[in-house]
Amino acid sequence: MIPRMTVKTLVIVSAACVGIGVGIWRLGSLDVTDRTSKPAEALSSPIATATVEALPSAPVRKSFDDLLTQYGPVPLADAHNHDASDFKYDGMQSMWKRDAMDRVVLFGDVSESSAIRTDAYAWEAYKDRPDFFVPYFSGFDLHDPSSLEVVRKNLEQGYFGLGEIAAASYYSPVVSKVEWKAKDPMDGFLPQIYELCAEYQAPILLHMDPPNGFVIDKLEEALAAHPKTTFIFGHANAYNSPENIKLLLEKHDNIYMDFFAGFTVLNPESTNRIEDFLPVIKQFPDKFMLSTDSGFGLASEDAAIEAMYRVLDAISDPALVKKVAYDNLDAILRNEPATKTQKEAIQKLNAAVDVTKLTKLEAGKLLWVK
Ligand SMILES: [Zn+2]
Repeated sequence: MIPRMTVKTLVIVSAACVGIGVGIWRLGSLDVTDRTSKPAEALSSPIATATVEALPSAPVRKSFDDLLTQYGPVPLADAHNHDASDFKYDGMQSMWKRDAMDRVVLFGDVSESSAIRTDAYAWEAYKDRPDFFVPYFSGFDLHDPSSLEVVRKNLEQGYFGLGEIAAASYYSPVVSKVEWKAKDPMDGFLPQIYELCAEYQAPILLHMDPPNGFVIDKLEEALAAHPKTTFIFGHANAYNSPENIKLLLEKHDNIYMDFFAGFTVLNPESTNRIEDFLPVIKQFPDKFMLSTDSGFGLASEDAAIEAMYRVLDAISDPALVKKVAYDNLDAILRNEPATKTQKEAIQKLNAAVDVTKLTKLEAGKLLWVK
């Protein structure tokens, strides 16, 4: 095991170089394992304390309650949440209410057979609260042609997107081990899957590590070859630099950034502070959305939600806060039309409903709101 201080120093040195390839992710990943197994120690380490103290806002740090008072009325969506696993969402309802959460993109396991089950849990949650949950799915083997049937069937049924899909994972202690992961974002049937996403105007949320080198070259190939597909770069800020994100956004219109607030705000391994990302967020005001990643690697999911509010507070401009907190993701979801299957089901319930211009969001509410 590399001593913590050495890791940190190496990461800083690596970040200063151009085109460092996999360095950041590898060093970071080593520490993710360590942090996951000993969260309390990691959070109370001298490095963690130093990082928190280094934040310019630290001396006048607002409490979570202050932030809730200030930003609670602004609609807030979590764009990346795994709480379908083990029905965790059942126990989250009061926290979401207290933390003024308005929408959760819900899925469970990532690109493995157990995801078939957790996809079904996400669907159940959605049927129960169609105004709150947005179900995604990832239970298909992207190396098998049957994946195309699953993707079409689920999108037709009413799922809003695909995620979290392991489009490449070489260092994540969890995702690198999943059975259906892709080698890169053009592997297996992913190209045909991207076309299905375009047909349904459904976004696809990709996990990619390392977030540089050949993995991103392949992502760029996918972005160029599938211009009508909406790609979301999962936890784009994790072990990644604002410069890399900026380059992608400058080159491609069809990529959006899922910003895992807790990583930058709370994870001592983040080499960038929220302030470092503000210029690119301001340059691309329509491209960022916030997420908790269910608090992966953090003390709690509550802490991950608090971090979302801290990002909003750092953004501060009310119009941009509104976009990043909710509207950017909402615009993608609103763009999805109701499917033939949904329209038929609605007309079966009430033949008088005009379904011609119905969106998927509206269809879900007509079908499932009690
Ligand atoms: Zn995730």
